[in-house]
Amino acid sequence: MIIDDQYYDVIIIGTGAGGGTLARKLALTGKKILVLERGELIYRESSELVETEVFKKEQYHAPEPWYDNEGEPFYPQTHYAVGGNTKIWSGVLQRMRERDFEQVQHQGGLSPAWPLKYQDFEPYYTEAEKLYQVHGKVEDDPTEPPHSEAYPFAEVAHEPILQSIGETLSKQGLHPTHLPLGLGDQGRTDAEDTGVTPALESENVTLKTSAQVILLHTNSSGSEVKAVEAKIGEQTYLFLGDIVVLACGAVNSAALLLRSANEKHPKGIANRSDQVGRNLMKQLLSVVVQLTSPANSGSFPRTLGLNDFYWGDKDFPHPLGHVQNSGGIYQDVIFAEAPPIFSALSKLMPNFGLRQLATHSVGWWLKTEDLPHSNNRVYHLGNKLRVDYTPNNVEAHDRLVYRWLDVLKSVEQAQPNVFNRTTHPRSDMPIQVVAHQCGTCRFGEDPETSVLNLDCRTHDVHNLYVVDSSFFPSHASVSPGLTVIANALRVGDRLLEQLQ
Ligand SMILES: Cc1cc2nc3c(=O)[nH]c(=O)nc-3n(C[C@H](O)[C@H](O)[C@H](O)COP(=O)(O)OP(=O)(O)OC[C@H]3O[C@@H](n4cnc5c(N)ncnc54)[C@H](O)[C@@H]3O)c2cc1C
Repeated sequence: MIIDDQYYDVIIIGTGAGGGTLARKLALTGKKILVLERGELIYRESSELVETEVFKKEQYHAPEPWYDNEGEPFYPQTHYAVGGNTKIWSGVLQRMRERDFEQVQHQGGLSPAWPLKYQDFEPYYTEAEKLYQVHGKVEDDPTEPPHSEAYPFAEVAHEPILQSIGETLSKQGLHPTHLPLGLGDQGRTDAEDTGVTPALESENVTLKTSAQVILLHTNSSGSEVKAVEAKIGEQTYLFLGDIVVLACGAVNSAALLLRSANEKHPKGIANRSDQVGRNLMKQLLSVVVQLTSPANSGSFPRTLGLNDFYWGDKDFPHPLGHVQNSGGIYQDVIFAEAPPIFSALSKLMPNFGLRQLATHSVGWWLKTEDLPHSNNRVYHLGNKLRVDYTPNNVEAHDRLVYRWLDVLKSVEQAQPNVFNRTTHPRSDMPIQVVAHQCGTCRFGEDPETSVLNLDCRTHDVHNLYVVDSSFFPSHASVSPGLTVIANALRVGDRLLEQLQ
């Protein structure tokens, strides 16, 4: 074991939406900051991913297996690289809705209230949208929360076929909108180009890649983390610092805390409440494909969203969820995880290759909030990382799917020249799709029921923070990325005060 001879003010572990953003926020303090990332630098943007990469999907899986409820191994779709999962994301950067911060009765149970409200996050959403160069438009969406400032850039135009679908939806009284997208000169913005790379311009920031943190060590009373143990190549290092920030993603941050159990923290670090690893959420996610006669470009971004069923439907008082187009299926990394849909598509279009399928289809993602359950959790069984997850709130999600199929049929009736088939292959996302994982270290005021306080500092260990998607007490039906970024900026302000 090598003990690093530097002493850091802050050690950040993980460089995704949370860690990468925080590194940039703290860089200008001049404080000595170490960033540890288990992946490597890849400069390609997610918008440059094309079929050959996307459908060789193993390269976007973790190299180690995780184990499901039954103890069966699976390789999760989670990307270890500088920028984390933002290197393969679609860049749809949505604000949670105001009511998402309140307690909401769902068909499948209660979605708990957040201890902070939309107004607390609003300034940070605005800061996040500026930083990640979000292109959008505040439109006539019944669920859109108030914005203190307009989006910094104009919305991205729809692919022609989506434009015409949107017009038909509007004529039917629905409210299609332009999805907010993070876009820079090189394509989609991510936590590498927007967070880590600018942070490294400050000499006080050091990045170590291929540095997998394997343990946290506390002092003898257990009140603070004293050292961070990481494997770099075959060598083990100890890094020492004043403040330690975990940002490994919801599953890996919880796993690290649990794995670091010691005499003072027998159930895992910061786990006095037995809440670390519990309440894992990942959204219910289905894709539906609509087949078209005229060809489209096959590679276009997600631009069209719809929230008319977000809080319910005319004969259903509970939330259903959010709908968005998948973008050209050529570039959609999540889509590539759904083999059943390809076998259905190839039966419907037997002589079509992937390219023709992509250019003659529009995909739709349907997302419904799942609820935090104590038994949906991350833990170790022997040396295996178990991810026990049983979907809940399923009826609401099925209703969203069937409601959307009705909407698609009415669009097809209105545009018979465009849609010559009215079958809609669909697929639910399997366990390995953990793209929207969150909730394993929720924040709250009560140390008995939460892991983090309102500043995302652990209740039990006074120099240990968590700034990834773990802190969510509930998952909304919109995508989580912007909220992870906004929260990292918010926690960054607390750390700036402390570092002064
Ligand atoms: C294919 C795909 C598409 C998506 N599209 C969207 C979208 O359009 N909009 C949206 O809002 N969200 C999207 N998401 C979700 C979004 O990417 C995540 O919500 C977000 O990245 C979570 O940020 P995070 O900081 O929690 O974790 P991550 O971004 O996953 O970052 C975790 C980081 O920690 C590193 N790490 C893990 N363990 C260790 C360790 N032990 N030691 C050192 N480093 C470690 C990882 O390598 C990684 O860099 C998508 C996700 C995927 C996979």
